[in-house]
Amino acid sequence: MMKAVAVTPGKQNSVQILDVPKPVPTNSQALLRVRRIGIDGTDLEINQGLYGEAPAGSNFLISGHECLATVESVGSNVAGLGKGDLVVPTVRRPDDCLNCKSGESDMCLTGNYKEHGIKGLHGFCSEFTVSDVNFLVKIQPSLAEVAVLLEPMSVAEKAVFQIFKIQERMIWKPKKALILGTGPLGLLSVILLRLRGFDVLAVARRPKNGLKAQIVEKVGADYINSVEQPVTSLGKFDFILEESGVA
Ligand SMILES: [Zn+2]
Repeated sequence: MMKAVAVTPGKQNSVQILDVPKPVPTNSQALLRVRRIGIDGTDLEINQGLYGEAPAGSNFLISGHECLATVESVGSNVAGLGKGDLVVPTVRRPDDCLNCKSGESDMCLTGNYKEHGIKGLHGFCSEFTVSDVNFLVKIQPSLAEVAVLLEPMSVAEKAVFQIFKIQERMIWKPKKALILGTGPLGLLSVILLRLRGFDVLAVARRPKNGLKAQIVEKVGADYINSVEQPVTSLGKFDFILEESGVA
């Protein structure tokens, strides 16, 4: 047996620690020892009962989709992965639609995918967990301190990648970006865009001397408190990322 943090989907504030059987990996899965878990708005909303779906045959859903783990065991026919390797398991598992079959499950056409810790598959917030080996991202040991942020960073990366993909239709030389919201995703986007050389302005409701504003300024971006200065007064931008969670 092992300890796991779990919720009852659809029931408000149901989060609890359960004793559950240690998972047994199939031939295509790795057994993982969980090192770190990130908690985000999705986890909180699932615990509020707003969504979330337990795996078939289970009346609970193990929480957690942001995870850093080490490989505990892996099938003998799996190349490039061995016991002790640091990995981040990705969240979504595809269905059989055209995009999913083409390796683009983020663009699933049916919505019938599954997601660890969210929809139809247990999450990673337990002592051990399992993941299909084809959905593990191997992590260099030098990145161990930050790698649990890989999943939210992949969300920020997708937004920026898609913006540039769409704008391939024209000559476009963007310089100024506006980020609305400084949650984890907003802050990661600020960092990502600074790395691309953008002038970045981040806007949120917290005071200008707070920790989030300090992080924004530390990476060379500017911070505006929208309570003091209305967003409509900030001028023009080449693009705007809405990351306040209140579309
Ligand atoms: Zn699909």
